[in-house]
Amino acid sequence: MIDLELTPDQNLLVDTVRDYMAKEFAPTIQDNDLNHFYDPNTFAKLSDLGLMGICFPEKYGGAGMDYVSLGLVSEELEYVDHSFRTIMSVHVGLCGCGLYIWGTEEQKQRLLRPLASGERFGAFGLTEPGAGSDVAAMQSTARRDGDSYILNGEKTWVSYADYADTFLLFAKTDPAAHHRGISAFVVHRDEAGPGFVTQPIKHKAGIHAGDTGSISLQDVRVPAANRLGEEGEGFVIAMSSLENGRYTVGAGACGTVRASLDYSVRYANQRQAFGQPIGRFQLVQQMIAKMYQRYEAGRLLYLKAGWLKNRGEPSNRAVSLAKWYCCDAAWDSASDAVEVHGAYGYSDEYPVFRYLRNAKAPVIYEGTREIHTMMQGEYALGYRTERPARKTLPAYRPDAEIALV
Ligand SMILES: Cc1cc2nc3c(=O)[nH]c(=O)nc-3n(C[C@H](O)[C@H](O)[C@H](O)COP(=O)(O)OP(=O)(O)OC[C@H]3O[C@@H](n4cnc5c(N)ncnc54)[C@H](O)[C@@H]3O)c2cc1C
Repeated sequence: MIDLELTPDQNLLVDTVRDYMAKEFAPTIQDNDLNHFYDPNTFAKLSDLGLMGICFPEKYGGAGMDYVSLGLVSEELEYVDHSFRTIMSVHVGLCGCGLYIWGTEEQKQRLLRPLASGERFGAFGLTEPGAGSDVAAMQSTARRDGDSYILNGEKTWVSYADYADTFLLFAKTDPAAHHRGISAFVVHRDEAGPGFVTQPIKHKAGIHAGDTGSISLQDVRVPAANRLGEEGEGFVIAMSSLENGRYTVGAGACGTVRASLDYSVRYANQRQAFGQPIGRFQLVQQMIAKMYQRYEAGRLLYLKAGWLKNRGEPSNRAVSLAKWYCCDAAWDSASDAVEVHGAYGYSDEYPVFRYLRNAKAPVIYEGTREIHTMMQGEYALGYRTERPARKTLPAYRPDAEIALV
């Protein structure tokens, strides 16, 4: 049996978020992007809507909705701008889901609840100046000292490093053990002391209405009670967190495809050339038809991944495929949208060049295009197999009341 219809709750959610984004954020986003301005009230506004704990049970401060809903909201946020969807990806997908899957009951109450309820803004620090795709090359260290760990090192390209309060960070407790020597820690900015310093990355090519920064860690003392999982489990925790972050990135990219399509259709019907709307030219139709094709295909891919998550089934392969396909689709669609707009597309008079500036980053982060291409090749060839993870998101149980307001 297959059912592609959204539930009434999911439809209500999409309508509510779409309407809210159109009224609250769409009118100012182009200016904010051009002025490199992140509105610091953004997180609180999204949180007031119940979105910052969307897929976590109410007992952990969340809205108790399902993982398909997480994808649908990611699409709606990115339809307006990447900077909004990025908040969902780092706060819910990477940091929150990491805690939900790997936290003890005590940690979920103490560390996940403030994230899910929006009291704290979560971020995720894995990348280092010399360690991106090659996670195990990280140099940051965590040395046990009584009831604490002392963290030293540097994280970079951390989305919302300058605004988040809670960080899921990774450092080596056993540097000689390669990826098996990495451990995961939850670090609170307000408890970390003066050795915890963040600063924005300058001259970023896009996502100007959102923040990306680096974190310097100098003898930062973290309680041992904030270590997630066992010592040496950090690599596995990072990969499982990334799987959920990637899901929101892939779903979000469909928002860029749809926004590129909507703007292109509107423009192609208005702009006249050779005595008729440019939409009458078959080569313009081809660009628009491909945007629609990419949207429909990409949406099915992320919905399938969300469906697997709802069932508690392994979804790594499906998520990787959705992330890879949808991010390429967003980049190609934004590029085509610029072309449909002609010279006006090559300016900030319309939002389509912003889409293009923004769309490159998701092709690079949360697993580059090349990494996902290799993963899919390995799955197809049987070198990599999809097997149940030791710990994963629990299957969705619709037993909690919807806490969306
Ligand atoms: C806007 C933005 C936000 C980000 N936010 C975060 C965040 O919140 N937290 C975080 O931890 N990180 C974040 N990142 C970092 C991101 O995850 C890394 O940039 C990404 O993992 C790639 O690492 P790298 O940049 O070091 O590139 P590299 O790993 O050095 O890759 C460079 C090139 O080599 C290719 N390559 C590398 N290894 C292989 C291989 N084995 N086979 C084939 N090709 C290969 C890559 O595909 C790429 O084309 C962000 C990045 C950006 C741009």
